[in-house]
Amino acid sequence: MPEETIHDEMRKKGFSRRDFLKFCGLVVGTMGLTALPPMEASGMPLPLLHSSQKRAVKAVVQALQTKPRLPVIWLEFQDCAGCTEALTRSQSPTLVNLVLNSISVEYHETLSAAAGFQVEEAKQAAMKKYAGQYILVVEGSISPKDGGVYCTVGGKSSLDLLNEAAAGAAAIIATGNCSSFGGLPHANPNPTGAVSVLDVIKDKPVVNIPGCPAIPEVFTGTLAQFLVFGTLPELDSLHRPKTFYGHTIHDRCLRRPFYEAGKFADSFDDEGARQGYCLYKLGCKGPTTYNSCAVMKWSGGLSFPIQSGHPCLGCSEPNFWDGGGFYQGQSAPLSRPAVTTAGLAAAVGVVAAVGMGAYNQGQKKSLEKQEEKKEG
Ligand code: SF4
Repeated sequence: MPEETIHDEMRKKGFSRRDFLKFCGLVVGTMGLTALPPMEASGMPLPLLHSSQKRAVKAVVQALQTKPRLPVIWLEFQDCAGCTEALTRSQSPTLVNLVLNSISVEYHETLSAAAGFQVEEAKQAAMKKYAGQYILVVEGSISPKDGGVYCTVGGKSSLDLLNEAAAGAAAIIATGNCSSFGGLPHANPNPTGAVSVLDVIKDKPVVNIPGCPAIPEVFTGTLAQFLVFGTLPELDSLHRPKTFYGHTIHDRCLRRPFYEAGKFADSFDDEGARQGYCLYKLGCKGPTTYNSCAVMKWSGGLSFPIQSGHPCLGCSEPNFWDGGGFYQGQSAPLSRPAVTTAGLAAAVGVVAAVGMGAYNQGQKKSLEKQEEKKEG
């Protein structure tokens, strides 16, 4: 393993003790997402944490002060590098940024400074030196068809490269929909025979972090657990961490009160769209898509597609390119309870509880006004 501890590395890069402790708090908050929403966890001073959280922070502090940096080998196959882009564009100082400073990226086709034979030799050396210890990250789908000619790096097919690197990996993280489920390259007619990591690798632990791209905080939260505790998170039947994929987008959507009230936008420029109504009839896949977008959001918690007026495309589910059409409205809304003012208030309360903030308050007021008009 790289000899310096994570704490040493952070100090070398100018992070203070306070930054380090804040990082430990963020790690705990992210790993316990269901119990402690990240918006609350971000920057929360230690005295405000519950005692169980304080114990968890202490355990993380202890681990990061003594553990060496985690070696990572990152392979890209049939991808657009969007997951890498999303990670590297995250703002500083964030959990993403800090976790990335706590790992030792030994090989990355987009980010490595070296190229050609030099970088391929460096990868071979790292796989040998850290055999059984490194995390293998895979971005992009694998193309075994026609002898693997559609995706090669350094003269080797994606299938051979994956098998070679997987052999010495402690665990594999498939980031993005392409490596998790085949993604865009897998869409009909799938000319390259694109498959996922799990279609190829059967004898190693594989965690899927699907999304197009994967949410950076979800990727780094998973990596952080391995970094700190050497364990992988509990997974669902599609190998996704339950912590981040345990709820649908719909469960925590800020437009949910409109859904419950039966108020839908029928086109992107109608009055309903302007009022922020539910996007279900515009093809929103939120009710069947499991991910944390509505809570984690993007760009430092600024927004996510539905908040910005675009229906969910279902990018963290298998077969999302072929599975039902992006903008095809559903024929009828899913079953929903009869709307009463009390029911509406309860729905608004649920949404407010997961931190929807001022935007949702605006929606609530708008709905209340409409309800008052209706009742008056
Ligand atoms: S916009 Fe989509 S996720 Fe949000 S409430 Fe409507 S259907 Fe559900």
